[in-house]
Amino acid sequence: MSTKENKPIYVTSPSLPPLKDLITYLEQIWESKWITNDGNFHQEFERKLAEFLGVKYISLFTNGTLALITALQELKITGEVITTPYSFVASTHALWWNGIKPVFADIEPEYCTIDPERIEAAITAKTTAIVPVHVYGSPCNVEKIQEIADTYGLKVIYDAAPAFGVEKNENSILNYGDLSILSFHATKTFNTIEGGAIICHDEKTKKRIDFLKNFGFADETTVVAPGINAKMNELQAAYGLLQLKTINEKIAKRKIIDDTYRDLLKDVEGISFLKNIEGVKYNYAYFPIFVNQEKYGLSRDDLYVKLIEHYIFGRRYYYPLISNFSSYKGLDSAKSENLPVANRISEQVICLPIYPDIESEAIKRVVDLIR
Ligand SMILES: *Cc1c(COP(=O)(O)O)cnc(C)c1O
Repeated sequence: MSTKENKPIYVTSPSLPPLKDLITYLEQIWESKWITNDGNFHQEFERKLAEFLGVKYISLFTNGTLALITALQELKITGEVITTPYSFVASTHALWWNGIKPVFADIEPEYCTIDPERIEAAITAKTTAIVPVHVYGSPCNVEKIQEIADTYGLKVIYDAAPAFGVEKNENSILNYGDLSILSFHATKTFNTIEGGAIICHDEKTKKRIDFLKNFGFADETTVVAPGINAKMNELQAAYGLLQLKTINEKIAKRKIIDDTYRDLLKDVEGISFLKNIEGVKYNYAYFPIFVNQEKYGLSRDDLYVKLIEHYIFGRRYYYPLISNFSSYKGLDSAKSENLPVANRISEQVICLPIYPDIESEAIKRVVDLIR
């Protein structure tokens, strides 16, 4: 029997638009029979998204991984690319699918994003680009990364998959670097079930990205590059348009949960949080805590299991590190001596449940157990 005490609490739960509103849009799609290939909903969603996010150009994709693979194609990135091992596997898989050698650089302990000094140390004659990740939606040191890129003549492609709506000094974080990608997967702050996007800064680049996501077709008979099929369909675009109407409220609800966790867990010895950066507007996509076994008394895994015993399903994002997966662990840069901070953090992290309609009783259960 499901009681209050054993009702499962998951790390996230997707927000869906009102079904009634979606049906109205579906009726329009059924009427027009335009179900994919840059239809009305697709065009409107791109326009409204760009406006909402405060970016110039955005191209919709079927998912974030294909957006990242295509972004690397667009800039014709080859050779070696410096990236972080502390992310979702797709960040590095996208390099592999382009025949690029990933070179891992360690992260900063307070923010979990790539350490600019370690980027500089990892540059070789073969380095062509940097793929930093705004992990948990927390911005990388974008100014320093750009300085390094400018000095060494490198491109910067941000995996900004979880950074929907994040701003630094009232400017979208997506405006940094040469390109950024977003994911609209069900687990993200903003979802279109599956979905993604590339953000770029000029019209010509957008045009080429749009060719690439449609097999390279520029017109009926012209193929300008070996493109892929990564187009978002009309149903997802319509769903996304509805999601835009409520996203601000949902982020505001997430903020309250983040504040509550920070407040109620702040004096628990051995539990620490991500450090907030001055001037950043967050989207509260995740709530990672870091368990210091000596001070807390339990290891991260002991706590993780204890939570599960009480039907609280946190997730160890990001464990294992990408560099420790069999596909990558043979690389020189994957050695743990090269990545001491990432290896340590990866052994300490648990992401706690956070989503807009989480019940306050659920938060209390999580907090009481940890305390
Ligand atoms: C979610 C995520 C991805 C993958 O996006 P999909 O839309 O699921 O393909 C890539 N990188 C990071 C950092 C992510 O969080």
